Amino acid sequence: MIAILGGGISGLSAAFELKKAGKEFILLEANPSVGGKIQSSQQLGFTLEHGPNTVLINNAETKKLIEELGLWEKLIFPEEKASSNRFVLKNGSIEPFPSGLKKMLQSKLFSFSTLLSILKEPFNKTSSATEDESLAAFIERRLGKQILDDFITPFVTGIYAGDPYKMSAKYTMNLIKEAEEKHGSIIKGMMKIMKAKKIENETIGLPKQKIFTFKNGLQELISALYKTIEQEVQWGAKCTKIEHSNQNYTIHYEQNGEEKTLVTTHVISALPAFALAELAHNFAFGLSTSLSKINYVPAMAVHFAFDSKNMAFKEKAFGILSRNEEKVPFLGILFNSHFFPHTAPNGKDLITVICGGARYPEIAGKSDEEVFEELNTCLRDLLGLSGNFDLKHIVRWKRGIPQYEVGYKTIESEIDLFLGAHHNFKIAANFYKGISVSDCIKNGSLAAQSLM
Ligand SMILES: Cc1cc2nc3c(=O)[nH]c(=O)nc-3n(C[C@H](O)[C@H](O)[C@H](O)COP(=O)(O)OP(=O)(O)OC[C@H]3O[C@@H](n4cnc5c(N)ncnc54)[C@H](O)[C@@H]3O)c2cc1C
Repeated sequence: MIAILGGGISGLSAAFELKKAGKEFILLEANPSVGGKIQSSQQLGFTLEHGPNTVLINNAETKKLIEELGLWEKLIFPEEKASSNRFVLKNGSIEPFPSGLKKMLQSKLFSFSTLLSILKEPFNKTSSATEDESLAAFIERRLGKQILDDFITPFVTGIYAGDPYKMSAKYTMNLIKEAEEKHGSIIKGMMKIMKAKKIENETIGLPKQKIFTFKNGLQELISALYKTIEQEVQWGAKCTKIEHSNQNYTIHYEQNGEEKTLVTTHVISALPAFALAELAHNFAFGLSTSLSKINYVPAMAVHFAFDSKNMAFKEKAFGILSRNEEKVPFLGILFNSHFFPHTAPNGKDLITVICGGARYPEIAGKSDEEVFEELNTCLRDLLGLSGNFDLKHIVRWKRGIPQYEVGYKTIESEIDLFLGAHHNFKIAANFYKGISVSDCIKNGSLAAQSLM
């Protein structure tokens, strides 16, 4: 018997893999629904994503999962033009994020000195430092502060909602760190790495248009996964403690006000770090201490829907990311109905404003009215929004996104040490080996395979 703890995409992917292999398992999920951060809802003809908006098919496991669930035909890829039209907010002005050399040379984001720092990068000395370096220190050392402020900070904010001065370069932008380590330069190294990646992707048969959703949002992926394992899911089952003796793990959990136990030989934990830290306190103190050091930042997805004619900003775009220095209350804006037109009725627009993160965590403590008010004022100025909204909606993730910060290397060593001593205990969750949905699918599938 295998116990899977947590029914987010990591736990569900592990469960699906076990189901296919005919293994006996139980999945314990604290909430009355599975999916964790992946939730979508339909309101007044709009499709709202409460967590992730898109999934990237960048590994074999994600592609295989979609195929095996029979979802390939249902994938919706973004409108190509809008999807590649991205912006950065600089000094209050919405500037196109250049894609390609010609646009780069025309872009206001690129000064002469920026171009010079890119051209000089391959000749910069590589660092002999082996310690975990912050992303900000790494980029400043190789490419200079302007690239850090105008490109890297907005970009990583869009993924991790984190602070590049605290984030670990190795664990958040591993490819460019590897480019320096192996090839002595980000520019030279990335060209080689991307070429190799392209060949690898072609071998696996990954499609060119690689981000997707479904007609009713990413919830469709969760529903399809759930259908295959519904007999094995225990709802409202909140794990409270794990004990380990001989070859067995005893999982204590609460369900419907009752205390229950499950004795099992194999465990896959797909819980957030803070939850596993609490459960492991009894039998793996080192692991528990390390996991409790992983910082989670709050994240909020705030949706606004309105008549398209009420927005003066007329570009068909993917989104706008903001720099640290901008005095705005958001990290980024996604123009959902531009890149996924099916998410709004004709003549209407839907945008998602992502707030919080390491930059502005205080907004998470504000009331809905205060958040709407603050964002309304800003969006009316920035996008020229006028008139009434059809819909305003807030989703709050108090401990939204785990941060791979400087010092994560020690945490990872402690996790590896624990896993080395507990061969029948696996960890698959977004605080270990990647936070994207496709990382979680991959790590959930691999965790299950490694128990067979
Ligand atoms: C606002 C936001 C936007 C994002 N955007 C994107 C995006 O566009 N693309 C992308 O790839 N990624 C995105 N991400 C990241 C991605 O969504 C997550 O990293 C991923 O979904 C996490 O999956 P998980 O299964 O590891 O964890 P979770 O989804 O957190 O699931 C953990 C599960 O464990 C359960 N649980 C917790 N404690 C217990 C307990 N004691 N007992 C039993 N069960 C318990 C929870 O209820 C939950 O169901 C975004 C994240 C957020 C918050």
